[in-house]
Amino acid sequence: MNATPADNLDADETLGHFINGAAVADGGRSLPVTNPATGQVVRHVALAAKSTVEDAIAAAEAAFPSWRNTPPAKRAQVMFRFGQLLREHADAVVALLTEEHGKVLDDAMGEFGRGLEVVDYACGIPEMLKGEHSKNVGPGIDSWSEFQPLGVVAGITPFNFPAMVPMWMYPMAIACGNTFVLKPSEKDPSAPLYCARLLKEAGLPDGVFNIVNGDKEAVDTLLEDPRVQAISFVGSTPIAEYIYTTGTKNGKRVQALGGAKNHAVVMPDADIDNAVSALTGAAYGSCGERCMAISVAVCVGKETSDAVVGKLAAALDGLKVGDGTDTSNDMGPLVTREHYEKVRGYVDLGVDEGATLVVDGRDLSVPGREDGFFLGPCLFDQVTADMRIYQEEIFGPVLCVVRAESEEHAMQLIDGHEYGNGTCIFTRDGEAARYFADNIKVGMVGINVPLPVPVAYHSFGGWKRSLFGDLYAYGPDSVRFYTRRKTITQRWPSGGVREKAQFAFPSNQ
Ligand code: NAD
Repeated sequence: MNATPADNLDADETLGHFINGAAVADGGRSLPVTNPATGQVVRHVALAAKSTVEDAIAAAEAAFPSWRNTPPAKRAQVMFRFGQLLREHADAVVALLTEEHGKVLDDAMGEFGRGLEVVDYACGIPEMLKGEHSKNVGPGIDSWSEFQPLGVVAGITPFNFPAMVPMWMYPMAIACGNTFVLKPSEKDPSAPLYCARLLKEAGLPDGVFNIVNGDKEAVDTLLEDPRVQAISFVGSTPIAEYIYTTGTKNGKRVQALGGAKNHAVVMPDADIDNAVSALTGAAYGSCGERCMAISVAVCVGKETSDAVVGKLAAALDGLKVGDGTDTSNDMGPLVTREHYEKVRGYVDLGVDEGATLVVDGRDLSVPGREDGFFLGPCLFDQVTADMRIYQEEIFGPVLCVVRAESEEHAMQLIDGHEYGNGTCIFTRDGEAARYFADNIKVGMVGINVPLPVPVAYHSFGGWKRSLFGDLYAYGPDSVRFYTRRKTITQRWPSGGVREKAQFAFPSNQ
């Protein structure tokens, strides 16, 4: 299978959906999909009507009884073949990521690899579903807990990791025995469709995995339909809160991961050169469009702050921005013109708010790519906690330096922020690092690690307004999220023995 979902599509033609194991065309509403490096429309994507989403839910519901009863080891074999096919077709998926998202190819391969890790993890599902057993909980009575799949579950995903974030969800959901309806981002929809075809080729029965492309109408249908048992969402905080509130009101299990403002603390004793290298990659990689991107550097002390700002400015001078398909580039464009305008507006705002714009990427022009959505790296110094550029998620290549007096002061800033996704500290002092990791009110913490994204066998999630719900994405939490515990207690009384009614509550006392 070398063809991509977009094969033979002209710019005026439209990507549809993937329902019950087949591509489904849609002549209804649609949106253009743009290559952000060129500014050109590369194809269109359908926006599903309510009835189309209902068809996908019906297909998933019909596929559930048989998939639920498929032995976990057989489900694992499908995941194993899926992983093999993904490896064989990595270049094709990665090319789609760069074409529609804009990120450089290396970065796209990194994203793809982290998604693949979850597929590999899902291959161990028989071990994870073993349950708990107790013999003789009472005289001749045994009891066990098992973890049953929920039924039809849905995923709604953001533009910034079009392959990885869906893979945070559907491999584990499916391996647990559920059937799935994915609503990917309408900005870069091709990679998930490509993966759906590989999953079918890996032997997944039709209807177990379905994709509906769409917007709010599709999402609201998933939120309202009583057949959908659970929803995993990743995206911005206002929408995450809406999904969580509406989904739980409708009786669904919901995990909704939201936005972020990730702070890196640079202590005076840190290896400043290495910290600056780490910060440069973590702040400007993927054009800052990562929920784990470092968007605030909190430098402790004047000397540290001056050194970090000076070295960052020098590093940004050498950063290469351009089309993501050119492997010599470090950073590609922003995803859409609308997002470019928004991020640029934040840079203007920071200047108005009185922060010092040390590196200004606003005038960048990429030769031959004048219509692309390129913004050069921007660096603000002297940012304070009352500024909107500090408080709000910008989601672009903009790093704010805040000067702090001490580790405590830095930690107060982080704890006072509404988001709590990721953070990190650069230091050589084990005691300071341990205190930071132990006490900071953030879900994922790095110690001299700028992007502490948990590996597939841990779980991913933030605190505060970066996550609505109780369970994190992938890893052990995903088994709990995508299954429901059932506890069964059994005894086999001897035949022929007449038993009296027991009115006391059963106990071992
Ligand atoms: P977004 O919230 O705009 O969209 C996410 C999904 O919600 C998309 O599928 C979109 O179609 C849908 N959606 C958008 N508006 C909607 C509405 N009004 N009603 C119902 N559905 C709606 O997010 P985005 O711009 O695609 O992605 C960037 C955001 O995602 C950033 O805030 C980033 O921090 C966040 N993100 C968070 C994590 C995390 O793990 N916490 C990971 C990746 C991205």
